[in-house]
Amino acid sequence: MKYIGAHVSTKGGVENAPFNAHEIGANALALFTKNQRQWAAKPLTNQNIELFKENCQKYGINQDQILAHDSYLINLGHPESQGLEKSRKAFVDEMQRCEQLGIKMLNFHPGSHLKKISQEKCLKTISDSINLSLDMTTQVTAVIENTAGQGSNMGFTFEQIAAIIDNIKDKTRVGVCIDTCHAFSAGYDLKDRFNKTWQEFDKIIGFKYLKGMHLNDSKKAFSSRVDRHESIGKGTLGIEVFRQIMLDSRFDNSPLILETPNSDIWAQEIALLKGFADN
Ligand SMILES: [Zn+2]
Ligand SMILES: [Zn+2]
Repeated sequence: MKYIGAHVSTKGGVENAPFNAHEIGANALALFTKNQRQWAAKPLTNQNIELFKENCQKYGINQDQILAHDSYLINLGHPESQGLEKSRKAFVDEMQRCEQLGIKMLNFHPGSHLKKISQEKCLKTISDSINLSLDMTTQVTAVIENTAGQGSNMGFTFEQIAAIIDNIKDKTRVGVCIDTCHAFSAGYDLKDRFNKTWQEFDKIIGFKYLKGMHLNDSKKAFSSRVDRHESIGKGTLGIEVFRQIMLDSRFDNSPLILETPNSDIWAQEIALLKGFADN
């Protein structure tokens, strides 16, 4: 079965996310468990936690279909000790917030070398950061997202992601989220080489690590290394890729999340995708 949702708003509290997902016909969701543009966050209250769990039940969102996203400020591959410490502390806090909410997966962009350390060193630092955060939690899986390779962001090749996973001690708690826009921008031709790309993914990383997807079309050209999401079917990727994903059982049973720019049409986009899956 396909689980399709969007990265929904938590305005007024995390407990509002399940309702916001329900409103657009989603049976999966992504959310920030804190303000994504600030380092500090108020702890979750018991009320936040209880209501969130209650609302997930009420609106039919299974905990396995929730993919939390971390703050954009966090850089787990930071080249400098101060920035790295701050990032690691914030990331552990986010993992713990997920645990409190019963969320099993936290999705993050691996990190950036900021042109101050080598790519290899950065990847090793990211693995060390993940190991640390897994040591300090018990329930949450760290889900690495592929990037478009903008600036000095790492994680734009399958090999880089595989290298990060290779150094993780507890491989049962690490996973991967593939963002279709990022993959296309990074030079993976999901449009004209759909099967080849996934074969490569399976060979280098492995489908067993795929814990979710971000379904986004792209505003930018193939291999542009620029991260600009577009609504489904309206960008350079085109609708066919999304139809293929919906018809492919390898993408069953994990959250497929829209991060498309126009939230007014999320309900339509979800209906469109569901329609492909039902055929
Ligand atoms: Zn994404
Ligand atoms: Zn993006």
